[in-house]
Amino acid sequence: MKPLICLGIESTAHTFGIGIMDDTGKVYANAKDSYTTESGGIIPAKAADHHVEACGKVISAALEKAGLKISDIDLVSFSQAPGLGHTLRIGAFAARALAVNHEKPLIGVNHCIAHLTIGELMTGASDPVLLYASGANTQVIAYEGGKYRIFGETLDIGVGNFLDSVAREMGLGFPGGPKIYELSLKASKFIELPYVVKGMDVSFGGLFTNLKQKIDSKEYSNEDLAYSMQETAFAMLLEVSERAMAHCGKKELLLGGGVACNKRLQEMAKKMCSDRNAKCFVPANEFLVDNGAMIAWQGILQHKAGQRMDVSEAVIDPYQRTDEVKVDWR
Ligand code: AMP
Ligand code: MG
Repeated sequence: MKPLICLGIESTAHTFGIGIMDDTGKVYANAKDSYTTESGGIIPAKAADHHVEACGKVISAALEKAGLKISDIDLVSFSQAPGLGHTLRIGAFAARALAVNHEKPLIGVNHCIAHLTIGELMTGASDPVLLYASGANTQVIAYEGGKYRIFGETLDIGVGNFLDSVAREMGLGFPGGPKIYELSLKASKFIELPYVVKGMDVSFGGLFTNLKQKIDSKEYSNEDLAYSMQETAFAMLLEVSERAMAHCGKKELLLGGGVACNKRLQEMAKKMCSDRNAKCFVPANEFLVDNGAMIAWQGILQHKAGQRMDVSEAVIDPYQRTDEVKVDWR
């Protein structure tokens, strides 16, 4: 039987991605183009302009890589939620245009849940707690009682934005996460920093202010600060993840999001899991960062479960929470 082929569109933030996958889990293409800035964060309207510009090129690049024509595509999926309204709208518009012009079924998906399901596919995890550590989002998510529930999350900025903000204070460019990691490797000592876990949530605002003061004082080396901030922030994330695992009785931790590319976070996550006889799953970087393949795969799961979406329903939902999503595919 011919496999079902889905073209997935990612556009929740800086990345415009097109993934093409089939229902056996084969990835035909995972093309993207990301909006970057020399300094400072995302300006939503500019990121949207980037996506408009990138859209046609990335779709063509993905089809070419896959060796397919648009007529070979059976389904179009798009990241419907959550994210920046400005950028989500571009992806949704592209999805509607493709679906209407080429008479393809259409399906909208939740971006955070797609990080979890692509991770399961790529690693073989079957029922994990997801530590989703990205630029804007930082959440601990697991499937429990028929829904994907958020067990803990940041009360202010995402861990990636935190790393990027500190890097900016240090005069390093964007994205700062990889640069902080490189610096941390040259550290000579640990500096005590505020450790903020409130219940099941974390907060990085106070930690950022404290680091900014320390950077301005010039009493500490950037290397030691980089190392210490990673140790502190990642320990906070893993404390909450571990408690979610204990609470749910789950034996798997899955990493997702751009910050999960960090080798030190991976090492600490693996150590925590081995200490409690659990497994730690880390997808390849290509599937950790925002990508179109994860949107294609989630679209396939929902379509195969019988979900259908009319073009009139294909509108964005920037503030959707994972537990608002009806789950009928597992
Ligand atoms: P995302 O929003 O999921 O695409 O993730 C973007 C965030 O990941 C940015 O804040 C980056 O600084 C961060 N990031 C990317 N690669 C790494 C890395 N190797 N170590 C730490 N952070 C990283
Ligand atoms: Mg993401």
